[in-house]
Amino acid sequence: MGFILKNISTLLTLEGAAKKQGRRIEESDLSIQTKAAMVVDKGQIQWIGPSGKIPKEYFKKSWADYDLKGLTVLPGFVECHTHLIFAGHRAAEFELKNQGVSYQEIAARGGGILSTMKQTRAASLAALTASGQKRVDHFVSQGVTTLEAKSGYALNLKDEMKCLQAIRDLKGPRMVSTFLGAHALPPEYGTYEEYLEYLGQKVLPEVKKKKLAERIDIFIEKGFFPAEAGEKYLQKARSLGFETVVHADQLTLSGGADVAMRVGALSGDHLLQITEKEIKKLAQSEVTSVLLPAADLYMRCKYPAAKELIEAGARVALATDFNPGTSPTQDLNLVGLLARLEMKMTLPQVIAAYTVGAAYALNLQNEVGSLSIGKSADFVCIEEGWEELFYGIGGPAKKAVFSRGKKIFGKL
Ligand SMILES: [Zn+2]
Repeated sequence: MGFILKNISTLLTLEGAAKKQGRRIEESDLSIQTKAAMVVDKGQIQWIGPSGKIPKEYFKKSWADYDLKGLTVLPGFVECHTHLIFAGHRAAEFELKNQGVSYQEIAARGGGILSTMKQTRAASLAALTASGQKRVDHFVSQGVTTLEAKSGYALNLKDEMKCLQAIRDLKGPRMVSTFLGAHALPPEYGTYEEYLEYLGQKVLPEVKKKKLAERIDIFIEKGFFPAEAGEKYLQKARSLGFETVVHADQLTLSGGADVAMRVGALSGDHLLQITEKEIKKLAQSEVTSVLLPAADLYMRCKYPAAKELIEAGARVALATDFNPGTSPTQDLNLVGLLARLEMKMTLPQVIAAYTVGAAYALNLQNEVGSLSIGKSADFVCIEEGWEELFYGIGGPAKKAVFSRGKKIFGKL
C-alpha cells in the first residue's frame, strides 16, 4: 500500500550530490526543497514535488496520508564499514591501553583480536544473531537504512560461515555482508601467505556457493597482510565474482590504496597515511575513500586528509568502523562531528559522505543514498533543521526511519 508525505517543511533529496557522484560537494548539492511532498509505493519513490501540486491520481482511498509539517526529511544514512558480528568485548583492554600498557604486553596477556576470536568461535549462531540484532537496532534508531557488516573474528571456515549466517539473519535495514577472513593471522597458521592461500582455495569458494557475502575485505598493513599477497588474494576474489574492499594505509603507507585501485575495489578504508600522490590517483579513480575518524580518535592518531581528498575530486564516505578493539562505538553523530571538528569537512560534505558517498562504497548508488523517482524509499524524519545535524554531542533524535517504504523505527 502506498502513502503520501505532504507538507514536509524541508526535504533534502541529495540529487545534486548523486549527479556529481559524491564528488566536490557544496551546499547546493543537498538539493533542498521546502513545503515539499513525496509519494511512495511498492517500496520506491514515485513522485517528489511541491506539496500543493501532488497529482490527483495518488489520492487513493486505501493509501495513508501523513502531514509532515515542521519536519525535515533526508535520505536514510548508509553505514558502510562495521565489524558488527563478534562475541564479548574488550573493555578491560581499553583500560589497560589507556593506562599505558603496551600493545605487546596486552597481546601477551591474551588481549587483542585473538581474544575476540576465541569468544566468537565459542559463541552459538543464535547468540551472535541476537547480539548482532541489538546492534542493528541501535544503528536504525540513528537513521541508518543500509548497513554493512563484516565477518572476521572467527578466522576459520566453520565459524566464519557462522558469522556470515548471523548477518544473513539480521532484520530491519538493507544489509550488505562482507567476508573479512583476512583480518588477522589465526594461531593455526605460520605465515600470512599460507593463511591467504587457505582462504582463497577453501573458504572463498564456500562463501560463494552459499551466497553468504557479496564482498571480500582484507587488512593490508606492514607487519600484517602484505600488499603483494593481498593483491593476489583480491584478484582471486574478483575472479570468483566478488566485489572487493581494502583496509588501507591506516598505520603506515603500505600500498593498500594502490592495491585497491589496481584491483578495482569499491573502496579503500582508513587512508590516514596516504600522500599527495595517492590522493591524486584516488581522485581520478572510482575507488571511494572511506574515512573512519572514530577509530582515529580511539587510536589517538592523526586524522585522514579529507579536505585534500575532496578538493582533489575524490569521493569520500564516512563510517563508524564499529568494532570491539579500536572503535567500540556505533555513534554516527560522533563520526560526523569529528569529520567537522578534526577534518574540517563542511556539513553538506558530511551529510553527502554518509549518504551518497557511502552508497557508492557499497555499489548501491542506484538504489539508495539520495531521494529521486525510482529509488528506494529509505528516509529519515527529524524535528530539527538539517543545520543541527552533526552539531551537538548526542545529536538530534530521529523521529521516524523508513526503509524500502516501511517504517523501521519511531512514529509519524
Ligand atoms: Zn575496520
